[in-house]
Amino acid sequence: MLPVLVLTVIRNIHLIRVREFVMKDAYSFHTTKEDLHAYYEKVKRAYYRMYARMGMQKAVAVEGDNGMMGGKISHEFTLICPAGEDVIAHCPACGYYANSEVGKSVVKPYNTQPQPLQYIDTPNCHTVEDVCNLTGKQPINFAKAVIYGLKDGRHVIAFVRGDYDVEERKLENYCKSELVDASEEFLKRMHAGSVGAMGLDVNAKDYIVVFDLSLKDERCLVCGANEDGKHILNVDFNRDLNYTPEYVDIKKVREGDECTCGRGKITLQKGVEVGNIFELDTKYTQTMNMKFIDADGKAKTPVMGCYGIGITRAIPSIVEVNHDDRGIIWPMEVAPYKVHICILNAKDKDMLTAGLELEEELKEKGIDVIVDDRKVSMGVMLSDADLLGAPIRVIIGRDFANSTDELVKKPIEVSSKLLNFKKMVEFGDAYDFITKLLRESPVILNK
Ligand SMILES: [Zn+2]
Repeated sequence: MLPVLVLTVIRNIHLIRVREFVMKDAYSFHTTKEDLHAYYEKVKRAYYRMYARMGMQKAVAVEGDNGMMGGKISHEFTLICPAGEDVIAHCPACGYYANSEVGKSVVKPYNTQPQPLQYIDTPNCHTVEDVCNLTGKQPINFAKAVIYGLKDGRHVIAFVRGDYDVEERKLENYCKSELVDASEEFLKRMHAGSVGAMGLDVNAKDYIVVFDLSLKDERCLVCGANEDGKHILNVDFNRDLNYTPEYVDIKKVREGDECTCGRGKITLQKGVEVGNIFELDTKYTQTMNMKFIDADGKAKTPVMGCYGIGITRAIPSIVEVNHDDRGIIWPMEVAPYKVHICILNAKDKDMLTAGLELEEELKEKGIDVIVDDRKVSMGVMLSDADLLGAPIRVIIGRDFANSTDELVKKPIEVSSKLLNFKKMVEFGDAYDFITKLLRESPVILNK
């Protein structure tokens, strides 16, 4: 019988963030880091095969931010699809995939010719845009200052080249603290809108100064003068700072940036995180005071890995990448029903008998079958079957009803959106035909 399903709109289904969250988690424990790493790589390969079998051939292992999980190596398995909420940086030349929160790229200096310093008045200019409008400079000429508060009460002044933005996750990782809004008092004290690198106290107790790598070796920057309504042109950090700036990667990666491999350009794609794997090292085994006795007889702390798959998230993700305008196209391995039998007129005794007999035979073989014997029009029945998207559809319809042959010779239609075919089969051959199809249906693996 047809289950009650509320599937109104398949297009833009966006069921990714639902309230329920079921996760598969697995853990491994090892005596050495090398053993953990070898096992981790094995799991990674197994994940590729699992996602491919689930119909998510575009799930890729993406370098992620370990964040609160700790450990050094981790990958997010991310399904590349337009409905995703994560942005993934990818280089087609070297196969690099990283969450844009940690994505790396190379920025070459824009202006390498030093010029003499020049102080200018910039009244009522509070943004890079304001100063650009006044001076005719472009954002790429700027050392843009962005100020955040830190959870511990301090502040951070982050400089990035004006054509880039600060990636807050990278900055948080660098500061080892969550970012919060800067205090009004601090903004006022630092002359927000005219903050510049020259004259800052890098040894200050209440703020940190950090420079993005995009500023390294720029020789002609526009900077704030640390005085309201004043800026400085042609600042050269190598020449003009009375301290050595600390350059780190805190910028947001951009589409078209040069990849660190030097051979390709970064593209940005949307993706959904559908799983993750971590080399946790000893972070948790140490906390739990877990020990094993090694071959040398000494008690040691094992290293640990953990491997998750979001089950509830996998289902809508599978649908997102396996559907057409009319409904779901379930991949064989994860289809809730493999066969959908439509009995177009259940009042016809032969049609009903044939449908239920086939259902019974397939079920005995352990195949999940759905039978639609509702009193609805053919159009409704077929469009519902399209919507539900079982891999194999059987229609016991007009040809069957009009046939004067004995039951086993009457024709039924077997079709599959997934396998892209439609065929008329004699009812007596249907069971063999369908079970053969299921046995031979290809599982597409990409790795
Ligand atoms: Zn690359």
